[in-house]
Amino acid sequence: MQKFKSYTLNKLEKIPQLSGLSEEQMEEIKIVSSIYPFKTNNYVLENLIDWNNIPNDPIFRLNFPHKEMLIPEHFEQLKRVRATGTKEELKEVIYNIRMKLNPHPAGQKELNGAFLEEKKLEGIQHKYKDILLFFPSQSQTCHAYCTFCFRWPQFINDLDFKIQSKEIDPLLKYLSENPQITEVLFTGGDPMIMNSRVLDSYIEPLLKVDSIKTIRIGTKALSYWPYKFTTDEDAEGMLNVLRKITKAGKHLGFMAHFNHPKELEPPVVKEAIDKLRSIGAVIRTQSPLLRFINNDAKTWTTMWEKQVQLGCIPYYMFLPRDTGAQHYFAETLENAHKLYTEAIRNCSGLASTAKGPVMSMTHGKVEILGVKNNSYTLRYVKHRDHSKTFKTFIAEPITPNPMWIDDLVEVKEEVPNY
Ligand SMILES: *Cc1c(COP(=O)(O)O)cnc(C)c1O
Ligand code: SF4
Repeated sequence: MQKFKSYTLNKLEKIPQLSGLSEEQMEEIKIVSSIYPFKTNNYVLENLIDWNNIPNDPIFRLNFPHKEMLIPEHFEQLKRVRATGTKEELKEVIYNIRMKLNPHPAGQKELNGAFLEEKKLEGIQHKYKDILLFFPSQSQTCHAYCTFCFRWPQFINDLDFKIQSKEIDPLLKYLSENPQITEVLFTGGDPMIMNSRVLDSYIEPLLKVDSIKTIRIGTKALSYWPYKFTTDEDAEGMLNVLRKITKAGKHLGFMAHFNHPKELEPPVVKEAIDKLRSIGAVIRTQSPLLRFINNDAKTWTTMWEKQVQLGCIPYYMFLPRDTGAQHYFAETLENAHKLYTEAIRNCSGLASTAKGPVMSMTHGKVEILGVKNNSYTLRYVKHRDHSKTFKTFIAEPITPNPMWIDDLVEVKEEVPNY
């Protein structure tokens, strides 16, 4: 059995693989980790990162913060205050920088709330008609953290930005009042950080709700800790709880987060996928497109083909959200569309199922369909106003090299406009 061993900022010096780094490199990691939460674990360190290829190794970039994630002004300010300031000053600088990083983009807090008798429910987001996001309080962390994570405010205790719920009752009540909701998506953090007993306390009551046809689990455990489903002491227990979902005749959808084909290579990943498929789970995969990690068409083709071989279904290619280090990770919209097209073109039909490139923004999820002469054809693959879902529209840039939907302005609706 593999024992889970995690490392956060205060245990950075204890990571054996970092012993070759210079003091300056260590200091850089510490500075950036004072803003973005850092966490790694023994599986990632030993199986996913190629230590002969740092700092450019894609999984190192995925998991370890690096200087360029902060704008130079913030980096220098932190460096200075760390060297010469008081604890209080440092705390204030960290807080101020974090607030500038748009910790809750796309109106998540204000717009996506779920209400019962005018009272806002904790840990629930209801943006799209038929699907609800549920944030169990026990899943507000992950087995390791991704540097580009747009959920990073969830992991920081002193920011008042957590979305979480300890209780299932308000959720059940909300579902009974909203029978149009057919799906509940467990998210976080990573719900697969929960143990089987806690997960069961949420799943068991949900199974009795007839209107719920699908339970989805958004997770990166297959990448960051696949033992969760294989050799962990609680692995059988987890599988037993999850099996109840399919036994009850509901769809069990795993939304697995993989950013690079390297994450699919260790044999234990196949074992974990086989276990999940054996209980009837359907595993769909998603990832953002990220500079320095996977911004290469061949990487995506390889990743999607390999996923299909393992029995997964490619589902979304996202663009990194406008929170945190977007300036560092984002490609231009045009490059993203080119790369997506090239990647899909080289895939077998079965591996070309991913929608993309997709931006998740205030009104919905928007897919880039084409770019020509500075004119962007876009489509809402999902819109909070259900009648606009799948509407196509044309937009033009308001800045050179647009990287996000805010850099465009809608100029006209396209067909179909029913
Ligand atoms: C993406 C998303 C979903 C799920 O969307 P699908 O396209 O059905 O996978 C649900 N709720 C929110 C808030 C989302 O952002
Ligand atoms: S696994 Fe998901 S929630 Fe966790 S750090 Fe990575 S992107 Fe964020």
